[in-house]
Amino acid sequence: MGAIQALRGTRDILPEEIATWQKVETLAREILGRAAYREIRTPIFELTALFERGIGEATDVVGKEMYSFLDRGERSLTLRPEGTAGVVRAYIENKLQAAGGVQRLWYTGPMFRYERPQAGRQRQFHQIGVEVLGTADPRADVEAIAIASDLLKTLGLQNLHLDLNSVGNTEDRQRYRDALVEYLTPYKDELDQDSQERLTRNPLRILDSKHQRTQEIAQEAPKIWQHLCPESQRHFDRVQALLSELGIPYQLNHRLVRGLDYYTHTAFEIISDDLGAQATVCGGGRYDNLVAQLGGQDTPAVGWAIGLERLIILLQQLHESPKSSLDFYVVSRGDAAEANALLLAQKLRHAGFSVELDFSGSAFGKQFKRADRSGAAACLILGSEEAANRTVQIKWLASQEQIQLSQAELLQKTDELRQQLENFKQ
Ligand code: ATP
Ligand code: MG
Repeated sequence: MGAIQALRGTRDILPEEIATWQKVETLAREILGRAAYREIRTPIFELTALFERGIGEATDVVGKEMYSFLDRGERSLTLRPEGTAGVVRAYIENKLQAAGGVQRLWYTGPMFRYERPQAGRQRQFHQIGVEVLGTADPRADVEAIAIASDLLKTLGLQNLHLDLNSVGNTEDRQRYRDALVEYLTPYKDELDQDSQERLTRNPLRILDSKHQRTQEIAQEAPKIWQHLCPESQRHFDRVQALLSELGIPYQLNHRLVRGLDYYTHTAFEIISDDLGAQATVCGGGRYDNLVAQLGGQDTPAVGWAIGLERLIILLQQLHESPKSSLDFYVVSRGDAAEANALLLAQKLRHAGFSVELDFSGSAFGKQFKRADRSGAAACLILGSEEAANRTVQIKWLASQEQIQLSQAELLQKTDELRQQLENFKQ
């Protein structure tokens, strides 16, 4: 019988890669923590209606990409395709607005979309995202963008650019939608199939079609900027002025509309030049209507999400995999020595050292080879003689220098040991 394999579009993240993932997560925690964002964890599945109402039924995500199913109680549930709808539901349900002021929240975890898997596009993927709820101030948009940009830069990523647009408020968009449909209708037959369908359902999305002829037509389309009311224009201008103030370069892109219906005013993407087709690392924007749309009080908000798989691909291209941090690899042979080694390893761990024990029972030569490969700073050697005398040989793997000392001494000289380990790890 053949072995069962992981589903298409899902991936195991193996121990070799974990250090890279943890580096991203740790740095995100630090950077977001310093900006007073607090972590929130919401369920991975929710009522399907949450996403239909929140993201919008005419979007690709809701129309084609959701993993929805009936549970045993005949409720329609969906594995979350994104994080914002769940966070907003939690914000409303738990009355987080009652605390007053602005709520700065962040989350991380798996998301699920039924898409065609390819490099940087999976069916289960991971995001880190932020949501700032309770302020319409353009400074919140710019602070959020600055934090995303800091995170990516601190990770050492280069060749990134920020695309910026305003999609205005609901009325601006309605006016623009009419103008756009009027412009596009004569070209209807030249548009790709998807775009033809969007012409009535979701015409703004035609602007970000990947189809070449559609793009050419879209390039000449009227721009939303001509339809912004003075207030929307002021918001857009202020965002741009503040980005300049912070020295964050950006380029305006009138075709950036983003896939989800809830955006208002600011829409942005951070795009990598090193990723091929799936190039957007971070996408976000303002969504002033979503909280009310999901049954809460009118609450302006702004947020973004970073796709972690794409980030990891970029980090791997930099060949930066954090090193092993193992302190000791313990080799032993013979019943007494093996029992003694097990005990010594435990005591060293209690003293705060990281210790790997060789279980093979094979000849010392083979165990030494594994010690070399383990990346440990030092090898601890216990034979029957050491076990009988309660001594141990310590061999520093970088210099091959080896000394014998009593086990009691080893456990007493922890400060000195720690210093030596530090020196060897550099
Ligand atoms: P795309 O245009 O690439 O499909 P999107 O607009 O659907 O992206 P968002 O919903 O804004 O993406 O999600 C934010 C980020 O999450 C994206 O910029 C991307 O980095 C990541 N992302 C989205 N879908 C996937 C996926 N299927 N696999 C891996 N990462 C994804
Ligand atoms: Mg998508």
